[in-house]
Amino acid sequence: MWQAEVRIDLDAIRDNVALMRAGTSAEVMAVVKGDGYGHGMLPSARAALAGGATWLGVATLDEGLALRRAGLDVPVLAWLHSPGLALHEGVAAGLDLSASSVQLVEELVTAARRAERTARVHLKLDTGLARAGATPAEWPAVLEAAAKAQADGDIEVVGVWSHFVYADVLGHETTDRQLAAFADGLAVAERFGISPRYRHIANSAATLTRPDAHYDLVRPGIAVYGLSPIEGETFGLRPAMTARARVAQTKRVPAGQGVSYGHTYFTERETTLALVPLGYADGVPRAASNAGPVQLAGKRRTIAGRVCMDQIVLDVGDDQVSAGDVATLFGPSDQGPTADDWAEVVGTINYEIVTRFGSPRVPRIYD
Ligand code: PLP
Repeated sequence: MWQAEVRIDLDAIRDNVALMRAGTSAEVMAVVKGDGYGHGMLPSARAALAGGATWLGVATLDEGLALRRAGLDVPVLAWLHSPGLALHEGVAAGLDLSASSVQLVEELVTAARRAERTARVHLKLDTGLARAGATPAEWPAVLEAAAKAQADGDIEVVGVWSHFVYADVLGHETTDRQLAAFADGLAVAERFGISPRYRHIANSAATLTRPDAHYDLVRPGIAVYGLSPIEGETFGLRPAMTARARVAQTKRVPAGQGVSYGHTYFTERETTLALVPLGYADGVPRAASNAGPVQLAGKRRTIAGRVCMDQIVLDVGDDQVSAGDVATLFGPSDQGPTADDWAEVVGTINYEIVTRFGSPRVPRIYD
């Protein structure tokens, strides 16, 4: 018998990828960083590949190496590297690695020589996000270093890429500006003799709404897990994660009873309280105190009082609720509140709700 669990619908992940694959002539890189946005990196990666993804995307070298250790031998791009990492391990494992600076190109040359293997490199251009990537001013120097390293046989420039600022806001002018900057960056690359097989810039939002940004490869993340990057649109995606727990205890209390630490909630009349065994140690945001929605006994309830480390309390009135009944925090919309509902309540995005949800003591069950 389970007490609390996170269920992951792997068919949903597969089908979400298949849906995006059907909508583009580009290849699909499923982004599985952050432990597959909280869904489990390896099972999510396998489900995404079953849905037609041909690439996997991760942030860190270690995430990429973990995919290889698990026997996944498809192309994997790892993109966020501080100086001095053991990049040769990534090169030896056949990972594609991103470079945003001359220094990183040089480190990749060293790594390639140490691994005795050509490094597969994606050069990143910053088209406006001001995160990773060479600025347009730095771009020629990065290209020059990469062109030389490629001529020497140390690296192969497999990709040129960038990332959007505002693809989740339909019609935002920044997206058009970034696409123009990306096209310029590709033209400059060609002048250095660099014409990569893969040009890529589209995240989920652009994959779903901007076919003109698909180029050769799209890199959806959140949509793989069935959540929409754009408020109010579902695009036919199916959420893969459901978070739920069985009521641990119920009790009748009188009117005026303060509930949970600090008594920030008082019952209005005699009522039943139900104790749900999930708390902030499991990813329930404490900011959801007196606000988070939970489905129980066919109704949507609101958390009564503060979220504790291990538990939350619901005021269910005179409804028939017993210990053992299932309370659903979020999941597909036909089963109760969604990750989007939680995101709205605590002032964040659905990405953060699912990525932070779960803990070692809450089993992840794969359907
Ligand atoms: N590409 C890069 C570089 C990213 O950092 C991310 C995630 O943040 C993605 C693609 C996927 O983005 P999204 O989850 O919005 O589809």
